[in-house]
Amino acid sequence: MTRPLVAILSGAGISTDSGIPDYRGPNGLWRKDPEAEKLVTYEYYMGDPEIRRQSWQMRRKNRTLQAEPNAAHRAVVDLEKSGVPVRVITQNIDGLHQLAGLPARKVLELHGTAREFRCTKCHARGPMRDAIARVEAGEDDPACLECGGILKSATVFFGERLDPVVLGEAVAITKACQVFIAVGSSLQVQPAAGLAGVAADHGARLVIVNAEATPYDDRADEVVREPIGTALPRLLHELSG
Ligand code: NAD
Repeated sequence: MTRPLVAILSGAGISTDSGIPDYRGPNGLWRKDPEAEKLVTYEYYMGDPEIRRQSWQMRRKNRTLQAEPNAAHRAVVDLEKSGVPVRVITQNIDGLHQLAGLPARKVLELHGTAREFRCTKCHARGPMRDAIARVEAGEDDPACLECGGILKSATVFFGERLDPVVLGEAVAITKACQVFIAVGSSLQVQPAAGLAGVAADHGARLVIVNAEATPYDDRADEVVREPIGTALPRLLHELSG
């Protein structure tokens, strides 16, 4: 018998136990400082060197690149190792699913990765730690070493399009899966959040694991409003049995 395909849509809440704050949870970055959203908005970033300076300082100080995977990331790896077909669609940019040991081909990064930088002009990429090293050495706004263009994190900013190939694959997986688990997401950022609705429309069992209510709760077969660090390992263990 073929085992059901499990799709997991993860958001910032799966990584808060790793010390990376979310954006919209009770301690979220944007509840503390609504202006912070400008630092990841393409139009502001491209148009204002001061926003770029602040954005690089934010990256220099934040802990994303030092963070370690937690029990929830490891539970996804355990499920995959148990032989259940699993695909992760993540809104996260921290790379922690892969660091936990999930093969990169099983992970779709809808919003890109904070582990790399990208040139907005020639599209050259490189390790984020190289750009951060230049900021630490005193550059406010490091320019592309290939073409002089403006560098940014290889994450998708507000006002940028998602990679259509990655999004297309995410939609195909969502339509094909039998179980769709949305975990640690306020389900407010489109088009990622809409995948929960697509899953329900296509007959998947929709499970939402999140401390707060989401706009898709009334479409879910199961809503688990418990800490992810214990709830997700329990849920995935049941699926692997
Ligand atoms: P969000 O901040 O909008 O929502 C996170 C949700 O997780 C909140 O509703 C919060 O209550 C819940 N939550 C947090 N910790 C939890 C825990 N331990 N147990 C149960 N629930 C918990 O996050 P989002 O929906 O992913 O959207 C934010 C956007 O910001 C995403 O697009 C993502 O790219 C980006 N982001 C990424 C990271 C990261 O890579 N780790 C961190 C912050 C923001």
